[in-house]
Amino acid sequence: HSPNVVVIGGGFAGATCARVLAESGVNVVLVDPSEQYVACPMSNLVIASLRNIEAQTFQPQGFPENVTVVRQMAQYIDAEQQQVTLEDGVVLNYDRLVLAPGIDLRWSALEGYDTEAAKRMPHAWKAGPQTLLLRDQLRAMPNGGTVVMSVPANPYRCPPGPYERASLIAHYLKTHKPRSKLIVLDAKDRFSKQSLFQRAWKEQYSNLIEWQGLSDGAQVVRIDAKRNTLHTDFDEFRADVANVIPPQQAGSIAITSDIADASGWCPIQPATFESTRVPNVHIIGDAAIANAMPKSAFAANAQAKLCAIQVTRLLSDQDPLSVPLINTCYSLINPNYGISVADVYQPTQSAWSPTPGAGGVSATNAPASHRQKEADYAHHWFKTITQEAFG
Ligand code: FAD
Repeated sequence: HSPNVVVIGGGFAGATCARVLAESGVNVVLVDPSEQYVACPMSNLVIASLRNIEAQTFQPQGFPENVTVVRQMAQYIDAEQQQVTLEDGVVLNYDRLVLAPGIDLRWSALEGYDTEAAKRMPHAWKAGPQTLLLRDQLRAMPNGGTVVMSVPANPYRCPPGPYERASLIAHYLKTHKPRSKLIVLDAKDRFSKQSLFQRAWKEQYSNLIEWQGLSDGAQVVRIDAKRNTLHTDFDEFRADVANVIPPQQAGSIAITSDIADASGWCPIQPATFESTRVPNVHIIGDAAIANAMPKSAFAANAQAKLCAIQVTRLLSDQDPLSVPLINTCYSLINPNYGISVADVYQPTQSAWSPTPGAGGVSATNAPASHRQKEADYAHHWFKTITQEAFG
């Protein structure tokens, strides 16, 4: 029979992979329950009232004919039988499976932060209603209010994302509510593009953003949603608006089907993305342990293309290739001020290793025209990547 690949998850990773697999002649069943996809990249602009959520919302379309889209939640993967059971009980057989379910939030891993608490103290780490809730809370907050953000330890979706969000929230406050304040409580001391962020904060938001790291004792250990309060070991912070970004794990099907390990993420053989725990299952995007590649949409897209090539080769008994991948992450300090980090990664036995000397971050002393260009590149990148994934 002609080989059959099931792809679970139609986000940046899964939708891209399904297209590339189909283009090389493989029959693909793409499983995702949602008619529409709301993208996280650029969603921090929505929170800062600088963009509409419609600009984040896509109706995946234009798949090649040999992609069958199934609007169902996949419920269980039986790797031994090479079968996926869907929510409605239908069972799909596969020769190879691509698993791309993104993340789930680890509810209650941070004491007091459960689905109820998220209605009062949004995470906004999956784009959609949560994004709008945080935006609306900021709009309703009086001038002079206090916004508190809680940022988790590594690994989590989008390493620079919390700091872009802090920047754009500060931009909103500076523009609309200048007597207000943003306190960022971080469970770590070092973060992505740190010196560029902190330099820009000093320049533009000096009395607005107060960042505290792990060694300042700033790790949030408990949430009190009734009092809108975040607790660290020694302190408590009452917020007018609280944004709690909780610890995360691979999408729950990876956990219940035992494809994730004890860390909550899915170990892979770097070059092929094939699981180290079960055969014929490839994991891409945020759910995979593809260290040192970050959990980004850029990385998800790059991994998807390579994974499609490797799966196609393996299905026809060809050796997999050894191919390097690139990641670039743009962040906005304000709508006209972009910064970026880029790296080239090589697959080794156990990791995606950054290539020494190949990457870098934006220059420390760049003119405003350069920052503007990087902000423009960020928008061009978003347009390209969403077109590739969602048509
Ligand atoms: P997702 O895009 O989350 O897709 C997963 C899909 O799987 C979803 O459609 C879901 O419905 C589906 N699914 C889950 N479980 C099942 C199941 N059991 N059955 C069927 N379907 C299922 N990245 C960048 O590169 N640049 C940025 O500027 C950037 N900014 C960001 C800003 C914020 C605020 C955040 C939160 C993230 C940002 N990211 C950015 C990160 C980016 O959003 C993620 O890395 C990316 O979405 C990962 O893609 P994915 O396909 O792995 O997961």
